[in-house]
Amino acid sequence: MVLVLAEHQDGHPDELSLQALALARGLAEEGRLEALLVGPGGADAAIVLGSHGVTTAHVAEDDRLAAYAPAAWARCVIETAERTGAKAIVAAGTNRGNEVMAHVAASMDLPFAANCTKAAEDGTVTRIRWGGSLLEEARLKGSPLLLSSAPHAVQATTVNGADAPAIEAFEPGLTEADLVVQVTERVEAETKGISLAEAKVVISGGRGVGSADGFGILEELAGLLNAAVGCSRVVTMAGWRPHTDQVGQTGTKVSPDLYIACGISGATQHIAGCKGAKKILAINSDAEAPILNNADYAVIGDLTEIVPAITAELKREHRGGPT
Ligand SMILES: Cc1cc2nc3c(=O)[nH]c(=O)nc-3n(C[C@H](O)[C@H](O)[C@H](O)COP(=O)(O)OP(=O)(O)OC[C@H]3O[C@@H](n4cnc5c(N)ncnc54)[C@H](O)[C@@H]3O)c2cc1C
Repeated sequence: MVLVLAEHQDGHPDELSLQALALARGLAEEGRLEALLVGPGGADAAIVLGSHGVTTAHVAEDDRLAAYAPAAWARCVIETAERTGAKAIVAAGTNRGNEVMAHVAASMDLPFAANCTKAAEDGTVTRIRWGGSLLEEARLKGSPLLLSSAPHAVQATTVNGADAPAIEAFEPGLTEADLVVQVTERVEAETKGISLAEAKVVISGGRGVGSADGFGILEELAGLLNAAVGCSRVVTMAGWRPHTDQVGQTGTKVSPDLYIACGISGATQHIAGCKGAKKILAINSDAEAPILNNADYAVIGDLTEIVPAITAELKREHRGGPT
């Protein structure tokens, strides 16, 4: 039997967890698939899982699970796996899924393969490494197999004629230590204008922008192009922009029609977030910068001159030609 940790919100399972169920179905001998749902709303979200092949849904109930607590979730996973004799445990490769599975792996002293695109019963997995720049084939040892599914690598599919799963509620044996780390507050990201994920044009700045104030010229150009402003990790680490603006392996993955990279060298971890763009324009003072290997167009020079020049030209066009 394969156990899947199914994340859910407002009584509905998350799309990435439905994808994890599809990956897990390929692993389950005779198709036996069970799910674990933690916290309030779990029983409601479980109902539709029958159509994704789940025969039994285990629902962990405890008021203290209302707030996400990674060690407490891991306790629920381990208890369920031990009770059911699961041969493999699969989570979605989300921040939470990977964090909980890391706790499970540490507690069970087992290896864990994150972000898998394929998995077989003998423990052979294919997983995404280095921000998507390579696929690794590995063999997991030990039992149960612990893995997470790479987001959007497997399509969520339904099973014909499946009944709603049997719901088995249980109260996990949580300790105070399981609740030392938990979410205490949620702050919605401040959204100014169009979001990074939706924008048709993204203008990103890197270390070459020089300071938080240096982003003013990027903001001005973005206003004219109805673009979103992104940045590299150096920028968020320096505190010039919030983490929500970061593009890359550990930031947002964008796929606009045009990505304008200003003063960004093009590290693989940054490219992991923008390689879905239809066209990339690099503005960089270094003609040897690695970003040029990924760029469709490049302007070599100082961004503090080039970006305002583009803005001025667009404004001139907008006014209707030379005056
Ligand atoms: C596990 C891990 C995860 C990571 N995740 C991410 C991630 O999600 N996103 C990310 O971005 N990085 C990530 N990084 C960091 C990444 O490796 C790079 O360090 C980072 O992307 C570099 O940022 P940068 O291009 O802004 O800076 P730099 O590499 O310092 O490049 C600055 C560029 O600006 C150019 N420049 C300087 N002045 C000017 C000027 N006046 N005009 C024009 N060009 C100029 C320079 O020629 C240079 O090419 C990660 C690293 C690790 C280890």
